[in-house]
Amino acid sequence: MPNSRRTPTARLDPRGPLVLDTRALPRRPGSARTETRTVPAPTDLHTGLAGIPEGSDLRLDVTLESVTEGVLATVTAVAPVTGECARCLEPVTQMIEVRCQELFSYEQGTGDADEDGYALDGDLLDLEPVLRDALVLALPLAPLCRPDCPGLCAECGALLAQAGPGHGHERAIDPRWAGLQQRMPQAAPAGRPAPEIREESGRGRP
Ligand SMILES: [Zn+2]
Ligand SMILES: [Zn+2]
Repeated sequence: MPNSRRTPTARLDPRGPLVLDTRALPRRPGSARTETRTVPAPTDLHTGLAGIPEGSDLRLDVTLESVTEGVLATVTAVAPVTGECARCLEPVTQMIEVRCQELFSYEQGTGDADEDGYALDGDLLDLEPVLRDALVLALPLAPLCRPDCPGLCAECGALLAQAGPGHGHERAIDPRWAGLQQRMPQAAPAGRPAPEIREESGRGRP
């Protein structure tokens, strides 16, 4: 079926998991219907470190309400998020809950979000773009395996949560500095420039 964006006739697949049929909702302001459904999460719901796995259970509570201009959809969605801890890179799984509300106007538009907002497509409305925006915005930018994750040891990369509080290293001299230290046995205290450097910086002075 050709999928022209400007075709005003129904182009939504009524069997689509996020397509709702409003025929059972009287078009009389104040009428409302609530339903709960669990649908497979659509593809491509992720940001840098976290995402909702495609096909995982998306639990929706949907209230459709007739208003003068169209149908007001209020959705609460609960979804699993998987990702990597921003500090220790271990896998993270958590649930997020989002709530969004969108008006689908009776005016026959394309069904896409444009400056006029969303529109009903015949008796159908498509929750996917609305939910997609809400879910992606709710994804954690820096997921943590636990709020106080200590992260990785900066020196050896060990998981500090497993290594324990006693984990540490002898204050080792960086090999690049070790050579320098040998050449300057009576090194000046840190912060005081070495003689050669002072000489060099004074070269340009009158
Ligand atoms: Zn962590
Ligand atoms: Zn370490």
